[in-house]
Amino acid sequence: MKALIKYQPGAGNVRAGEVEKPVIGPEEVLLKVMGAGICGTDLHILRDDSYPVRPPVTLGHEVSGTIEEIGEKVHGWELGERVVSETYYHTCGKCFFCKTGNINLCEEKLSIGSGVDGAMAEYVKVPSKNLHRFPESLSFEEACMTEPLVCCVQAVFQHSRLSPEDCVVVTGPGTIGLLTLQVIKLFGCRTIVLGTKKDEKRLNMALELGADEIMYVEEEDIAGRVRKSSRGLGADAVFECSGSVAAIRLSMDLMRKGACYTQVGIPGREAAIDMGKVVLREYTIRGTYATRPIWWDKTLELLRDGKIRLKPLLSSACSLEEWEKGFNSAIDGEGFKHIIVPVRGEGITEGE
Ligand SMILES: [Zn+2]
Ligand SMILES: [Zn+2]
Repeated sequence: MKALIKYQPGAGNVRAGEVEKPVIGPEEVLLKVMGAGICGTDLHILRDDSYPVRPPVTLGHEVSGTIEEIGEKVHGWELGERVVSETYYHTCGKCFFCKTGNINLCEEKLSIGSGVDGAMAEYVKVPSKNLHRFPESLSFEEACMTEPLVCCVQAVFQHSRLSPEDCVVVTGPGTIGLLTLQVIKLFGCRTIVLGTKKDEKRLNMALELGADEIMYVEEEDIAGRVRKSSRGLGADAVFECSGSVAAIRLSMDLMRKGACYTQVGIPGREAAIDMGKVVLREYTIRGTYATRPIWWDKTLELLRDGKIRLKPLLSSACSLEEWEKGFNSAIDGEGFKHIIVPVRGEGITEGE
């Protein structure tokens, strides 16, 4: 079958080629991949800058598909069902993190698309316990954004205590930023989205998706403007979704005393912050990494209830052979989510 492979360590070293079709174990299912999202993680793997990966490996962890084969010990699933999948192929089940429900932090965790073969292929095998049905109303293209949405739901629901009177800043209006924005708006908070001049289209989309205000970081006195927008105090919370060092530094000047800062985007390099500010302003600084299973159910509930809009964030779909086109669009910050459609590759299907 066709697959997109990181064939050895180092920058680049990715190509589309032929690999063996996966053979499933008794507790696994084989998915026919209908959509695989290109994520910041895939770009980190392409550049080899900060993300652990075990080449040779097929990329892709944001997947939607149909069930093609079912292992002999799997119950409750039928051939042809439309599903999305959690990303951990293996966790140890014994360590402190696994035992406390934090399997995203397990040292032995192997995820599809980095630790084991992933979804940028015609087929991918996953443990049946990772499967979720998704609402009829969503296309396969939209459904492969479930995983990034779960990351954002975890970031907002688990790592913050938002109230309707809060003013929240989101930095970075890419897919993760605009999904995070939509989750924050569920709490009724005033929300400001920050981006660069290059992000004009994305910032306009932020307004369409519910942002109360947008700001270009190149403009004067962003800190003063955020303060003015937030009862004269500064933001109650920041969700840093770009991973940019400049955005991380700027964020430290945008928050009120006692505010909570959450790092959602993965910085590709070390980002120094002034710990003096953290002490004197009593900031809480938190990170959020990937997803815990509990947030998958919550996310699918939000999608079923129509609380989050995914379709406006879908920008392009390309075949496995055209992977560079999709990756380059993602690198250049064009549009939002770019996906790989291994089977059809004829572009985004028009929904209702
Ligand atoms: Zn992802
Ligand atoms: Zn573990």
